[in-house]
Amino acid sequence: MFGYAFTCSACDFEFHTGWSHHLAGQSLLCGVCATHYLAGEGASPWGAVAGERLQLLRWHYVKRRKRHELRATGISLLVSKAPPPDTPAGVFYLLGESLRDVACQSCGTSGSIVETLTGRDACPKCKAGRIKEPHQVIY
Ligand SMILES: [Zn+2]
Ligand SMILES: [Zn+2]
Repeated sequence: MFGYAFTCSACDFEFHTGWSHHLAGQSLLCGVCATHYLAGEGASPWGAVAGERLQLLRWHYVKRRKRHELRATGISLLVSKAPPPDTPAGVFYLLGESLRDVACQSCGTSGSIVETLTGRDACPKCKAGRIKEPHQVIY
């Protein structure tokens, strides 16, 4: 599976797009407040199929265990048939339509959860740095 790694010129922000079979889901990010999400719990760890529903899970930092853990949001997302026309080959972006009406559980902004940061300049985490040219990653 392919994806893109986005980083910031000023802070430690990092976002890897696409489907990861390690996490068995598609990475998602709130483009306003930089909260990380995962669309997972599908039938296969190797990718979802059109018409399947994935669960929107939110990454939480658990202080007592010193690590990030996924928690259910109660929101399910419908996998669409085809990625947007400008999607690079091999990259899994199939939730854009389904995310349009979903509000971020952290900042409450509707439609702010995105599959990729392409075309954006400002870092959603520090608001000061710039998003650097992404590099491709293979999971
Ligand atoms: Zn947010
Ligand atoms: Zn930043």
